[in-house]
Amino acid sequence: MTHIILLGPPGAGKGTQAQMLVEDRNMIQLSTGDMLREAKDSGTEMGKIVADVMARGDLVTDEIVIGLIREKLEGDKAGGFIFDGFPRTLAQADALAELMAEQEEVLDHAIELQVNDGVLVDRIVGRAADALAAGGTARADDNAESLKIRLMAYYKQTSPLIGYYHAKGLLKGVDGLGTMEGVKAEIASVLDD
Ligand code: AMP
Repeated sequence: MTHIILLGPPGAGKGTQAQMLVEDRNMIQLSTGDMLREAKDSGTEMGKIVADVMARGDLVTDEIVIGLIREKLEGDKAGGFIFDGFPRTLAQADALAELMAEQEEVLDHAIELQVNDGVLVDRIVGRAADALAAGGTARADDNAESLKIRLMAYYKQTSPLIGYYHAKGLLKGVDGLGTMEGVKAEIASVLDD
């Protein structure tokens, strides 16, 4: 069983890679973004609280996301967890370390998908356009205004985790600018090493 974190700014490809790992390795994707969107769509109290913050592109409170993750860690672990979009702050990273210790599990790798900002903007704007062309709706936060705030949140609050996991000896950098299959192969070589 392997437990990993996928780190990287919005649009780096974390969700796409997580889904491939679910299919190929029977791992469990724990995306706090997906959990929060579900809460919002089903209109729970918590969903109502987070809706505005998410649409704006800011981070929801540590307490809320740590609560969501805590529940999942107590369930089925299958081939291991892929933390996708969590942790996003140092407090979340510390909380995750404690929760994993309680479960007597260890985190194996923090994989950083490295990309540059120009590509992110294109990808996210493209993601919104694809969703609309397919007759769907774009995410409320896939627009230029929210993206700026999401990127700022990433650099201010989440990017310190790169140093944090480096210091723990868990950081593995992967070039996130390759093709989907290329990135997948790089991640596979980290996991199978
Ligand atoms: P994502 O789908 O990972 O891009 O997340 C979408 C939005 O959900 C983010 O912009 C935040 O508002 C919120 N969110 C998701 N995960 C977290 C987290 N770990 N901590 C705080 N906010 C989060």
